[in-house]
Amino acid sequence: MRRSAALLTAFAMVACGDSPGAGPEGPVAPPLPDSIVWLPDVGAVVARAERARFVADIEVLAAFGDRTQGAPSNIAAAAWIEQRLVALGYEVERHPYLYRGAPRESLFATKVGAAEPDKMYIVSAHMDGRGGGGAADDDASGVALVLEVARVLALADVSTERSVRFALWNNEETGLNGSTAYASDRAPLQGIEDPPASGRYPEPTWLGMIQHDMILFDHGLPPGPQQSVNADVDVEYQSASAFAGESQTLADVLRQGNREFGVRYPASVGSNMRNTDSWPFRNLVASVSVRENERVAEIGAGSNPHWHQPTDVFSTYDDSDFDLGFAALRTTLSAVAQLSGARIVP
Ligand SMILES: [Zn+2]
Repeated sequence: MRRSAALLTAFAMVACGDSPGAGPEGPVAPPLPDSIVWLPDVGAVVARAERARFVADIEVLAAFGDRTQGAPSNIAAAAWIEQRLVALGYEVERHPYLYRGAPRESLFATKVGAAEPDKMYIVSAHMDGRGGGGAADDDASGVALVLEVARVLALADVSTERSVRFALWNNEETGLNGSTAYASDRAPLQGIEDPPASGRYPEPTWLGMIQHDMILFDHGLPPGPQQSVNADVDVEYQSASAFAGESQTLADVLRQGNREFGVRYPASVGSNMRNTDSWPFRNLVASVSVRENERVAEIGAGSNPHWHQPTDVFSTYDDSDFDLGFAALRTTLSAVAQLSGARIVP
């Protein structure tokens, strides 16, 4: 199998980044130097993303209500997500599991890599919500990001060398049940060609996992009425994990992508990823979360007054909030385009 320059570039950086020092909340690795040589078409691919589509998808999803797992709103929203992916040309697959004895499912769709269909990045968010509002930020925003990245990579003239899977988890709010079930059920299937000699890989080998969960609201801590002048995109990995070095490297690809292709808002890398669907993957593959704020130090300390509240509805957020979410979208898209080897093919 051909080794890709993009992959080697990304993973060569691990050598500079895997000597963490001890901080008050565990080991904190020093920042990695900017070192990525961007593939020629990454900018053109990122430019295909449309802010208006991203915002419109948040509005539609939030209008279903909070999408509590198993509720009619959850089922209706999942059906809408499936229709959207089918309309983009994807085959939508399901991962069934049981939650307290009741059947539930997550959805996924895959852009198959032209050169290495047996390897993939996972780009994800959670379909379910809570709080009695519209779960607009948590996590319609993440789902809308995944749908727009999926739309761009599905365009007829966009090709990737490696596969990219778009996963929409269910039961995040009840304890990461959908993503946990997927990680344990499907980890053993990685890289297996099935049927044999078919060229099909139901579970391509995982190269990295990027989860998106609450990407709109950075009004500082304590939160003010307006967006913080220091608003940023927070990319977190877990320093206490088996893939800490690889995860830090993946986070840094997003940080550098944000610097090169993000809009207006910088990205910060933190080392305490927790409480979202990338968690079950942390000891299996390079895993990061993308958020509006650090989960523990900021969101956990009250940075978002709408979190799990009836006020987490579309109308709560303004243009600056959607700008921040769109910066997160461009950040992820740049990293995924680079790592998957995306090209515009005439
Ligand atoms: Zn969430």
